[in-house]
Amino acid sequence: MLDAVLDAGEEFPEHLGGRLSCGRPIPRRPIRGRPIPRFPTMAVPKKKTSKAKSRSRRASNWVLQAPARSVCPQCRRAKLPHVVCPNCGWYKGRQAIEVD
Ligand SMILES: [Zn+2]
Repeated sequence: MLDAVLDAGEEFPEHLGGRLSCGRPIPRRPIRGRPIPRFPTMAVPKKKTSKAKSRSRRASNWVLQAPARSVCPQCRRAKLPHVVCPNCGWYKGRQAIEVD
């Protein structure tokens, strides 16, 4: 990859993209003696990600969340939102179901 530089007068291939990874356009002529890269340069990881690093990153998505709760306006008990109160049967300002 490092020796993949353009020869003198050679056009940069259109299908390889028009910009370097830093966002600058690919130079048409050598700048300060640097050869024109044949391929756009890209960021490459310096070290392999360890098993512990990748597993701990994935494990952070497995944390369980507590279910959402709201308070019944009729009996003031905690209930699930958008659900009839299982304690008194109240929903949307009226008695939706009969509860013993
Ligand atoms: Zn209630």
